[in-house]
Amino acid sequence: MPSSPWLPHTTSFPIRPRFANPRPANWWLTLRSTIAAAGLFLIITFPAFSADLSRPRNVLILMAGEYGLPAYDLVLHKIRNVVKEGYSSPLNWYAEYMDTARFSDFQEEKAVIDFYSQKYKALELDLLIAVGPGLTPIFRRFGGHLFRGAPTIILDVLPSGIELPALFRKPNMTGVFPAADPQGAIEAALTIHPETEHLVIISGASDMDRLLGELALTASHRYEQRIAVQHFNGTPLAEMLAAVEDLPDHSVILLTAYHLSTTGTAFYTREVTRELAARANSPVYVLFDSNADVGGVGGNVISFKKVGLEVGRIALRILRGEGPAAISPVREGLLEYQFDWRQLRRWGIPEDRLPEGSVVLHREISFFEKYFWAVMGAVVFITLQSALIAHLIILKRRERALSVRVSKAESRYRELLRIERSTRLGELAGSLAHELRQPLAAILSSAQAALRFLKSEHLEPGLLREILNQIVADDKRAASIIGSMRTMLKKRPVDTERIDINDLVRDAVTIFRGEAVNRGIRIETDLDFETLAVAASKTQLLQVLLNLMINAAQAMITNRGDACRLVLATRKKDHYVVLSVRDVGPGIDPDHLDKLFEPLFTTRQEGMGMGLAVCRGIVEDLGGQIRAENNPNRGAIFTIELPAVNDG
Ligand code: ADP
Repeated sequence: MPSSPWLPHTTSFPIRPRFANPRPANWWLTLRSTIAAAGLFLIITFPAFSADLSRPRNVLILMAGEYGLPAYDLVLHKIRNVVKEGYSSPLNWYAEYMDTARFSDFQEEKAVIDFYSQKYKALELDLLIAVGPGLTPIFRRFGGHLFRGAPTIILDVLPSGIELPALFRKPNMTGVFPAADPQGAIEAALTIHPETEHLVIISGASDMDRLLGELALTASHRYEQRIAVQHFNGTPLAEMLAAVEDLPDHSVILLTAYHLSTTGTAFYTREVTRELAARANSPVYVLFDSNADVGGVGGNVISFKKVGLEVGRIALRILRGEGPAAISPVREGLLEYQFDWRQLRRWGIPEDRLPEGSVVLHREISFFEKYFWAVMGAVVFITLQSALIAHLIILKRRERALSVRVSKAESRYRELLRIERSTRLGELAGSLAHELRQPLAAILSSAQAALRFLKSEHLEPGLLREILNQIVADDKRAASIIGSMRTMLKKRPVDTERIDINDLVRDAVTIFRGEAVNRGIRIETDLDFETLAVAASKTQLLQVLLNLMINAAQAMITNRGDACRLVLATRKKDHYVVLSVRDVGPGIDPDHLDKLFEPLFTTRQEGMGMGLAVCRGIVEDLGGQIRAENNPNRGAIFTIELPAVNDG
């Protein structure tokens, strides 16, 4: 007999003689062949197993009612969403609407079940979700064998208080069993409307309708002493609608379920609720959330959303491999006090009357509530924008006021400059008159010489021309002095023009020469050979230069016996034209250096302290600079730098 490494060796049985009894040998043979066969089976079928594991799971939803029931919409939607979110492998969904509820005679017929079993016999069902109403009896009878015992979740509305184990309990089944609560609904309605005197119970004529109607009627008995109860049991809709239009004061209506009228017309309770609520003169309470949003006030309703959630969760557990027997049926937590805010408003029901934990749905948010933050944002934005606009308007006004003040100040400043110029010119008046007298006297004597020359007999044209040329030259000199004076006295200085700073120096010297002679000052010029052009008002620059020259002359007044020299120099430095006025006076007190250009600063008794301030104003307006310093040897030097203008 071949031995195998994974089977116990025969020597390990010392008690029994090796071949004493043939039975152990047979037992081992059987075991070994069984294990080998199982191994072979596994090896052969392994690909089939893996294929089986990877095939899509099949889920059949079998509905007892007809297509379109509003409760189905809520439940199925929820189930599929929960499964979709929690189960990522492929799933095939199948749905069947048996519509047995409306054919109650046929309801428990095995033929119905056989039909569907036959239809799905080739399909390996991984999960059956059987949705009521009225399925439980069928499953009690056939459940164990249906669809080859596929794992099953039953969803059925049961009357409360019915023992589940008494109805069914099969190992392949579990379920979700919400219990409609007419008792709770009546209680809630009476608490919310304590003045109620009249309760109208409305139910249809289907089995389910009748069952719920009966339950409500039984529940109402406990309030018999307080209220009158009226029951419409399958009453045709038109008749019922006419009745509810005219109910006595202090009435409430409880619509349980209405799927069929006694005349055989089928309805959805949802539609009946809608019409009833529209016509009734009293509030309508309901038992299911599928009817709660079409005019019903609400009540202690079965929440099909919660039901769908529970079914979906159980479906997930089963699809992931749990057996249904291990999953307890769910009966609790499927109801909810649910109210429609619009109906609370319609019937004037204050929310504090609602039972604790009530959910109020369809609350209408006012435009303001809905767009609160958008509105707030807009308000803040508009406020800020308005503030900004107001601020800008104020700024604009201030700017306008300021520009008026600036233009007034400018005209005053111009006036000041003019006065300052006239004052300076006034200081030079004596010298200027003297200066003018010279060319005039020269012209006179030249003219007299010419006249004498004409009377004589020897007329020499060359000599006469020389005399006349002299007269012209003297006249030009006088005209140049008068021209410079006119420039200085102009009320409105000419606008900016191109000026050669060397010419300016020459003009200033012409005006000042008489004064210099009077004071015994020697004027020296050290002018750059090039044309040094700047853009400025000639009148103003002349004013600056004369101010500096007059100041220098005044500073040198104490130079007793010493030579008085005034040096005017020009040169180019980078992009600037530099003009300096140097004297040999006592220089500037170092403590005064930084105050010289301030208005009203003066050390002279008859001084006004405006000359240098005016100079600085003019120079800085032209984009230039003016500074004062002491010469290393002696005296002060004032330097002006002005932006040069290119010849091109
Ligand atoms: P004012 O001539 O009326 O005093 P300015 O503004 O022209 O006003 O001059 C201000 C002061 O600057 C003068 O009082 C004087 O002290 C000082 N100053 C101006 N030029 C010179 C200079 N060349 N040398 C020394 N001090 C000067």
